[in-house]
Amino acid sequence: MDNGIVTDAHLRTSDPAVFAAGDVANAFHPKLGRHLRVEHWANALHQPRTAA
Ligand SMILES: Cc1cc2nc3c(=O)[nH]c(=O)nc-3n(C[C@H](O)[C@H](O)[C@H](O)COP(=O)(O)OP(=O)(O)OC[C@H]3O[C@@H](n4cnc5c(N)ncnc54)[C@H](O)[C@@H]3O)c2cc1C
Repeated sequence: MDNGIVTDAHLRTSDPAVFAAGDVANAFHPKLGRHLRVEHWANALHQPRTAA
């Protein structure tokens, strides 16, 4: 946990069987080179596809 559930760029948490998406996810953003947590409906809609 750090400003949300910390994930890699594939939305994977420190447990390889657990993913986080949407408002709760503080995901690594490869283009920005840092973690980013977003509270927006489009992010919540598209992040699960990335995780899958
Ligand atoms: C007042 C308000 C206005 C907003 N306006 C905008 C806007 O204009 N544009 C925009 O893009 N975004 C807006 N947002 C943000 C947008 O609503 C969120 O980014 C989006 O809903 C996030 O979706 P989510 O699925 O990640 O989380 P949520 O929609 O919060 O869904 C999480 C779900 O998990 C459930 N839950 C929680 N705990 C548990 C548990 N222990 N077990 C099982 N279920 C649980 C909750 O009941 C909820 O249904 C607004 C948010 C608020 C509060």
